Amino acid sequence: EGKVEFRDVHFAYESNREILKGISFEVPAGKTVAIVGPSGAGKSTISRLLFRFYDIKSGQILVDGQDIRDVTQESLRSAIGMVPQDTVLFNDTIAYNIRYGRVDASLDDIREAAELAQIGGFIQGLPDGYKTMVGERGLKLSGGEKQRVAIARTILKAPPILMLDEATSALDSHTEREIQAALDTVSRGRTTIVIAHRLSTVIGADEIIVLKDGRIAERGRHADLLSKG
Ligand code: ADP
Ligand code: ADP
Repeated sequence: EGKVEFRDVHFAYESNREILKGISFEVPAGKTVAIVGPSGAGKSTISRLLFRFYDIKSGQILVDGQDIRDVTQESLRSAIGMVPQDTVLFNDTIAYNIRYGRVDASLDDIREAAELAQIGGFIQGLPDGYKTMVGERGLKLSGGEKQRVAIARTILKAPPILMLDEATSALDSHTEREIQAALDTVSRGRTTIVIAHRLSTVIGADEIIVLKDGRIAERGRHADLLSKG
């Protein structure tokens, strides 16, 4: 469960400028594919198309062999978990932010997800800028901590497919290691598509796709790509 396929996908936001110019790849259930490439290459567009935020011009996108045009938005959203680069937290405790969309989750479930995402220490806390009757208060969460809230949310949601957008901004190496460990935990055994900004973070990917100007310029495992220079 969780196979994703793009078949000769062409896409344009505006009718006259094609952004994806025939993209084909397959992510077998449980495997990890990384998409790398320069800014503007079309990486985020691929993630938006998987959620069907836009319709493609031609080609096909399939999840478990089913064209996503034949699937409801609701079931797509429950099948795919997104860990975005920038996580917006709402005005409630970190625990409630983790529980987002899973109202049946118990406090124990939330705590376990938070531990795995390495934010167990502050689930009772409130996010930065939390508004009360008498003003604002709350924790100052760093970008990395917010991302770990999103990771905990995804661990709790346990979707078969995971879409990760790695941070572009330079995180300090300690934070980066913590996030990488949390991401490894959440992606284990799930179909994972990673939008990566550095090859060094996706050494273990089953396939790396190098996207340039809407086309796949190269593909292979980390070692193959390095040997080609
Ligand atoms: P990447 O994630 O690789 O940086 P994107 O997928 O965000 O690239 O963008 C690919 C191209 O599509 C860029 O040229 C960008 O300017 C353009 N683009 C992105 N979003 C939109 C939009 N909503 N409307 C029009 N063009 C867009
Ligand atoms: P929030 O909407 O607060 O950012 P989530 O990141 O959990 O919370 O998003 C809820 C759902 O909305 C995700 O599971 C995903 O289906 C979809 N979603 C949110 N942001 C994006 C995005 N940038 N690209 C694609 N889907 C997204």
